[in-house]
Amino acid sequence: MNIAVPKEVHEGETRVSMIPEHVARLVQAGAEVSIEAGLGQTLRIVDGEYTKAGASVSPDRNALIQNADMVLRIRKPAAQEVEQMKQGCIYISLLDPFNEPELIDQFMARGVSAISMEMIPRITRAQKMDVLSSQANLAGYAAVIIASERLDKILPMMMTPAGTIAPARAFVIGVGVAGLQAIATAKRLGARVEAFDTRPVVEEQVKSLGARFVKIDLGETGQTKDGYAKALTEEQLQKQREGMAKVCASANIVITTAQLFGRPAPLIVTAEMVSGMQPGSVIVDLAVESGGNVAGSQVGQEVDVNGVRIIGLANLPGQVAVNASQMFSSNLYNLVEESWNTAEKKFDLNFEDEIIKGCVITHGGKIVNEMIANHYADK
Ligand code: NAD
Repeated sequence: MNIAVPKEVHEGETRVSMIPEHVARLVQAGAEVSIEAGLGQTLRIVDGEYTKAGASVSPDRNALIQNADMVLRIRKPAAQEVEQMKQGCIYISLLDPFNEPELIDQFMARGVSAISMEMIPRITRAQKMDVLSSQANLAGYAAVIIASERLDKILPMMMTPAGTIAPARAFVIGVGVAGLQAIATAKRLGARVEAFDTRPVVEEQVKSLGARFVKIDLGETGQTKDGYAKALTEEQLQKQREGMAKVCASANIVITTAQLFGRPAPLIVTAEMVSGMQPGSVIVDLAVESGGNVAGSQVGQEVDVNGVRIIGLANLPGQVAVNASQMFSSNLYNLVEESWNTAEKKFDLNFEDEIIKGCVITHGGKIVNEMIANHYADK
């Protein structure tokens, strides 16, 4: 089986999908791996390291894709790249499948088996393949580091002969993977941390990290079987905003990470709440790419609203690209390894397997994923 790894071409992408360590393991398993020349450039990994790992290196991206039985990447492909894929090619990357009907049509027309890394089911066996978690964890860390750098205050309390400096206050909204790491990072740096999530099970986790859980009674909230939050009603969201306005007003740093799987993120911090915050404070909106939790946040921008800095940087894991690539590459490798047929040296698409069933979107010219098929059938 020929596995191709093209370079990431999305502007500002610093991460690398496959690092030499995982290429070597694929080669040991009997795969022929071809990488595009310069694949590791952003991380200062030279082509020679991939050659040493057993890969062949090609400067011809088109030929690489045309000859591939499998393609491994971080970002979704351009339309003309899908046109180049062989029938039956297995294409694996993030695909944003709820918002990409045209891309899905193309995969079907081409007979490509497209695997979406977002759709890996959240079962214990698949944790090692879960890019949403591995990248969100690093994004939570990066968000706090960026916020602390932009703030013109220190985070820890300091008792000095010149007087006592109070600790900075951080408020984390949405305590999934990113939120938990944001809390842990802000605590390590010495901030006083408060947090809120609509899933009540989170309270214990917040407390175990030494942060305070902000209680707002929203009535019935709950979570899906995969542990994702359910959408709130407009009335519940309004209650939540009222409950949070005071906490935001006393915070120096607000980090929002509230997402809803497969749907746009809820607007939580309104313009009114921003105007109630202290000038000099910083908001980092981690949900900016899926619609944003904060009024006025913009993808890839830092916006100043009456002295409050709203940071909407895209691709926060890319700020710590060495670790983000290491994790992403490991997730991709683990997915391939789990379904690798050692005797035939190929990837088995076994639809009896819960992981394959969950993450394959198209196969044999059809949408085979139930959730995605239902999503488009409703439209
Ligand atoms: P996510 O990125 O979808 O959302 C981030 C957080 O935002 C979630 O905690 C969600 O409850 C919260 N949220 C949504 N709407 C909100 C609102 N209006 N106000 C405040 N918060 C809101 O979630 P995630 O980080 O991917 O993780 C969700 C859960 O799944 C976590 O408990 C995580 O530990 C769990 N998980 C399980 C596995 C597994 O394999 N079993 C793997 C990864 C994550």
